[in-house]
Amino acid sequence: MRLFSATIATETNTFSPLPTSLAAYQECVFLRPGEHPQDTPLMCTAPLFVARRRAAAEDFTLIEGSCFAASPAGTTNRADYEFMRDEILAQLKAALPLDGVLLGLHGAMVAHGYDDVEGDVIERVRALVGPGCIIGVELDPHCHLTLKRVRASDIIILYKEFPHTDVVERAEDLLTLVLRTIRKQVTPVMSLYDCRQIASYPTTLPLMRAFVDKTAAMEGKDGVLSVSIGHCFPYADVAELSGRILVITDNDKAKADRLATEIGQEFISMRGRTAPDYLSIEDGIDTAVTFNASPVVMADPADNAGGGAPSDNTTILRRLIERDVPDAAVGPIWDPIAVRLCFDAGEGASFPLRFGGKIGPTSGAPIDAMVTVTALKRDCWQSFGPTQVPLGDCAAVKVGGVEVVLISNRTQALGLELFRNLSIEPAERKLVVVKSTNHFMAAFGPIAKKVIYVDADGPLSRDYRRIPYAKVQRPIWPLDAETAPGLIL
Ligand SMILES: [Zn+2]
Repeated sequence: MRLFSATIATETNTFSPLPTSLAAYQECVFLRPGEHPQDTPLMCTAPLFVARRRAAAEDFTLIEGSCFAASPAGTTNRADYEFMRDEILAQLKAALPLDGVLLGLHGAMVAHGYDDVEGDVIERVRALVGPGCIIGVELDPHCHLTLKRVRASDIIILYKEFPHTDVVERAEDLLTLVLRTIRKQVTPVMSLYDCRQIASYPTTLPLMRAFVDKTAAMEGKDGVLSVSIGHCFPYADVAELSGRILVITDNDKAKADRLATEIGQEFISMRGRTAPDYLSIEDGIDTAVTFNASPVVMADPADNAGGGAPSDNTTILRRLIERDVPDAAVGPIWDPIAVRLCFDAGEGASFPLRFGGKIGPTSGAPIDAMVTVTALKRDCWQSFGPTQVPLGDCAAVKVGGVEVVLISNRTQALGLELFRNLSIEPAERKLVVVKSTNHFMAAFGPIAKKVIYVDADGPLSRDYRRIPYAKVQRPIWPLDAETAPGLIL
């Protein structure tokens, strides 16, 4: 039995002022066959990682393709996308004949000229491998579950958790299902229900937690092979942006249709109740400074690099400095130039620094302040589940009672190392401000005495009605009050 695996992945915010070129992949994940590390999966590479570990014991040969992944940002350069895609397709062609293909994709990648990158990749893979080869795909729930990609695949499995702590488990599920299909133990059929809605669904909140647990419990019995909840990725102007439910059964299309419809209707009934409350900046700071335990963790989801934002918005930070809030830590602010200046100044130095507020109008104005460089460290990383996310060279600067973590490699707040690398212990601060939508909860949730979500003026507005969509199919909630959800496959 011969399986091939490869990755091409990013999450594209088509409104982002940061274009994505080959350099962004080279800085993140850019691995040729055999170069993937043995001990940890990287962004979207879990299918290859898992298949490599299980190949010998489960009696198949894994042919490794390239793995390319970039941090979320703007639309990928067309020539660079085609270069990476064609490299993988050439490897695939050389690996024929194949029984199965495992693709580690993200699901919300857009390149210039390709609004549905994953649909393009999967269709081209299908054209090469033929109808008899089993194509299995792992996607992030912040994906566009387009008809093109579902039609061209045999099995698609999305992560269930947000924060995405189950990437490896879902890749294990995918490999198991692909192997069972190749061995003719099951015949997967997929149904897709379109809920016609845009929203955010952290699984750390009780309503969504219960929904995910209930639908996950349906798997593995009564012929139900897999249930995936597609959250959608709101910051992309693509036609098929929408919350969608994907159900896979063992050769029972009517059952898959029925279940996808039932689950979809329940998902629709949860509209408006799945995201946390978002406070204004002033209310958020008031709540934090008067709360009687610490730390309070305050999230700034509108400037989340994980959604393609620059992560250099200064609005919350400026108010903390202006209000002279004591014992606060803020991170990360992406500003490699400021980091360089801090290294030039040296640890312990006080000097006038301009930082943050650089990339676009949604970054706010830069902070100009007399700062003290409290710590410097090269080649930092933070953990996210089993993965290590590079931060590059980092600097901590102090302005009044506020310490700020400046990073060189743009990413969101994920692990406590973001602060600890620079001798800031987040558990001992009164207030910790993190730029992240919800992934921060995996590490910061357990140390937080209280978590506050603030809707600041970064580019990822929590009010989707303010996003200037042009291509998104209408009607869709909450842009339109009346929608027409239904089974589409
Ligand atoms: Zn995601």
